Amino acid sequence: MHWSDEPLHEEFDDGDVAVVEGFRYERCDACGETLVRGADLDELQRRTVVAARTDLERLSSEEIREARFTLGLTQSELESQLGVSAGTVGRWERGEVLQGATADRLMRLIRHHPELLPELGFVARERRGPYRTRPSE
Ligand SMILES: [Zn+2]
Repeated sequence: MHWSDEPLHEEFDDGDVAVVEGFRYERCDACGETLVRGADLDELQRRTVVAARTDLERLSSEEIREARFTLGLTQSELESQLGVSAGTVGRWERGEVLQGATADRLMRLIRHHPELLPELGFVARERRGPYRTRPSE
């Protein structure tokens, strides 16, 4: 085995590939197999999400959170708008999981067109519009 920091090509379930640079891992001299130690897996996953968002032009964690705040939605409300399972938006915002292309495009659309939320089935809560403006900082 030897240490390497050659770029890693990480493939997602849907076939998208992200190139992770500068990550140190071990590689077998005989077969070329890569070995990432358990303690380093979370770091690799986090870097893979960052690389994928750049390579595939997806919203960053900050952009997702910003869009959600602008729309005045909780994480679970955004999950129900997008039709994704509970806990998913939190994982996107913490950079643990890459949002799919469809959810990414839908978020880009509704952050600039909050008037579309009712089309997605969002019901305004009492004394509050379907979205609210964020207080100025
Ligand atoms: Zn080997």
